Amino acid sequence: MLKRLVNEALLSLTITTTGPVLIRSGHATLSGPDMTPVLTYRAGDWQVYLPGSSLKGVFRSHSEKIGRTLNQNNAICNPFHKPPESDAFCGSRLQSRQNSGKTLDSQTAYRVSCPICRLFGSTEFIGRLSINDAYLVDFNGRNPVEVRNRVGIDRLTGGAFGGALFDLEVVSSGVDFQTEIYLRNFEIWQLGMVLLLARDMQDGLIRIGSGRSRGLGSVKGATDAVTINHIGPSTTHPAHEIWGLGKFLQAEYGTCPDDMLSLDTFPEQKQRGLRRQAEFRDDNLEHLSDKAIAICVERLQAWQLCAMRQGEAHG
Ligand SMILES: [Zn+2]
Repeated sequence: MLKRLVNEALLSLTITTTGPVLIRSGHATLSGPDMTPVLTYRAGDWQVYLPGSSLKGVFRSHSEKIGRTLNQNNAICNPFHKPPESDAFCGSRLQSRQNSGKTLDSQTAYRVSCPICRLFGSTEFIGRLSINDAYLVDFNGRNPVEVRNRVGIDRLTGGAFGGALFDLEVVSSGVDFQTEIYLRNFEIWQLGMVLLLARDMQDGLIRIGSGRSRGLGSVKGATDAVTINHIGPSTTHPAHEIWGLGKFLQAEYGTCPDDMLSLDTFPEQKQRGLRRQAEFRDDNLEHLSDKAIAICVERLQAWQLCAMRQGEAHG
């Protein structure tokens, strides 16, 4: 992928549990609860946290749903499908292309990848987006976890399993976590997708962790601020515009040459080294979100199957 850094976006997000949440540690316990949340050693204590990798997985699958809802051209790949299926995972497709002796440069890998893989990455390249682990805010000595008693479900009948009660240790409702989402070398529609995810978090539409189908994992998100950096020696473009990756590239990456967002209101910008920095909050953030989400929706609706996948579909 592009070696130089042209833009960055940093979104700081507070996630508040609105019901019991379980992100399993995967460790069996000898005595005590059968399932326990992940812990990390921090500030002199063992604390529950929400791993960034787990949040990224949740955001990815939610983005896939959004993409499939908006796009009728089967442009979103399925991570579980392999070639020759028409919606085979981009990583598998790129791998089989390499196995058949064709060269694969970073431009081609990006150009032929579906929108979701362009943003979140695939086995063949890292994506534009990363998420930090989410840590507890204002812990104040209150125990953020509680034990819940559950009836075991018989996998065959779907009914209650004879006397099988198991204990879950979960994060309680009303616990705050803080994290950052980081985008680098982003296209404007990708910024829009991240802001759409943030809106859906705000509306409680995204659940996290285990047992989501059984009512666990409800959360609400609040975006505190979004910082946009343009990086480079000179500031040649108008101050009220955000430039996406496509503005800096030729067509070889499959990006739009007019990849740009023009805003009516723009927060004050600061020059910090090579970074020209703008921090969006409140009304500015709402305006940015509206505009960028509209571009994301438009782009995903119009997304066509790349020539490589069309070629596969035709033999
Ligand atoms: Zn893909």
